[in-house]
Order: sequence, then structure tokens, then C-alpha cells
Amino acid sequence: MRLLVATSNEGKLGEVREILAPLLAGGPHQLFSLAGLALPAPAETGETFHDNAAIKASESALASGLWTLADDSGICVDALSGAPGVRSARYANSDDARRQKLLGALSSVPAARRGAHFFCAVALASPDGKRIFRAEGRVDGQIALAARGAGGFGYDPIFIPDETPAQTLAELSVDEKNKLSHRGRALARLAPLLERLLRDGDLA
Ligand code: IMP
Repeated sequence: MRLLVATSNEGKLGEVREILAPLLAGGPHQLFSLAGLALPAPAETGETFHDNAAIKASESALASGLWTLADDSGICVDALSGAPGVRSARYANSDDARRQKLLGALSSVPAARRGAHFFCAVALASPDGKRIFRAEGRVDGQIALAARGAGGFGYDPIFIPDETPAQTLAELSVDEKNKLSHRGRALARLAPLLERLLRDGDLA
């Protein structure tokens, strides 16, 4: 079974590979990335995480002819009315600039009002791009006062999950992050379907 993961974000791809590893270990399966197939990343033209995940999955499925998994995710900050949300990747030009901009936007917001969550929508599209299976996950927490930790990617160094109040996501091991993260939870919900797809080669 050949499955495409429609992302050009190396951080996401690494996590998806890690999370799906136990499922993929059950057979001679191959996981491709957009870069691996020299395919372009589809434009994110939707207004919601679910819309964008579905667009990315179905466009890349059509372009590749493979069953395709896509994720759209981002960080939603309470004190900013949910921003940057679906625009998390476009908030500034680099991971570092995005973290600094967010810390700056919250510079006068006290610890008690720094609530935020990561949200992840995943979509699995059939090779003709027509059938879409969806799931979602979220992790609640707070925006730290300063960046900490070298793991993960993106906004991880400035996000403290409620489950680990002494550590940012970037201070957790890969396994610890995947167990509680928005992406880990969304993919766990899709796992029964993925298992069936990998076993039967289709989702009738
Ligand atoms: P998109 O899903 O490609 O639109 O990009 C998601 C944006 O949210 C990127 O800027 C990521 O850095 C950020 N993001 C998504 N998931 C995570 C995560 O698990 N940790 C840190 N940042 C994330």
C-alpha cells in the first residue's frame, strides 16, 4: 500500500511518520511526502482547518493517484480572539519570527490570561480526490512568557500544555509530544480507518 502525506513541513512529516509507524509496521507499506514525489504544496485557500486539510488531501491525491493524508493545524490564542488560527503558518516569515511576534502581541497579557490551544484537522482522500474522511484533535494550554526547549517545531517552544505545566511542548520527548498533541490525537481518531485501508487497500 502506498500512502502520500501531503505536507512540505518537515516537522509535521516527521511526527506523522512517527505516529503512523506502528500501523505501517504491519505490512510492506510505503509512505511518500510531497517532496518525495516532487509535487507542489496545494494553496491553503479554505477558511477553516477542516476545509484546508480536505483541499490539501484531495488535490494531492488527484495529482499523485494515491490515497493521501493531509493535516491542517495551527495555534489559537484566547487573548487574540483565536488568532493566528488557520493563518498560523502565515503569521510571519520564519518559525523564530512567528514566535517572537506572538510573544510580543501578548507582552502585556498576564499569565492567567494566556490560554491557547493547538488544533489539528486531518483528512484522508481517495486517489480520485472524491472521498474524504476527517478527524480532529486539540491540546489546551498556555503561551509561555519566553521560548524554552529545542524539540518539536514551530510554536512548540512557547506552548505549555495543561498536562505538563512545567514544560513547553519543545521540552517533551517526541513520544511525549505525540501522545498529547493535537496531531497525535487527530491521527489516533483516524487510526481505525487507516488500519482498514492498509489492510484492504480501499475503504469500501
Ligand atoms: P499549516 O497547517 O501548513 O497551515 O501550518 C501550520 C502552522 O502552525 C505552522 O506555522 C506550524 O509551525 C504551526 N503548527 C502546527 N502544528 C504545530 C505543532 O505541533 N507545533 C508547533 N507549531 C505547529
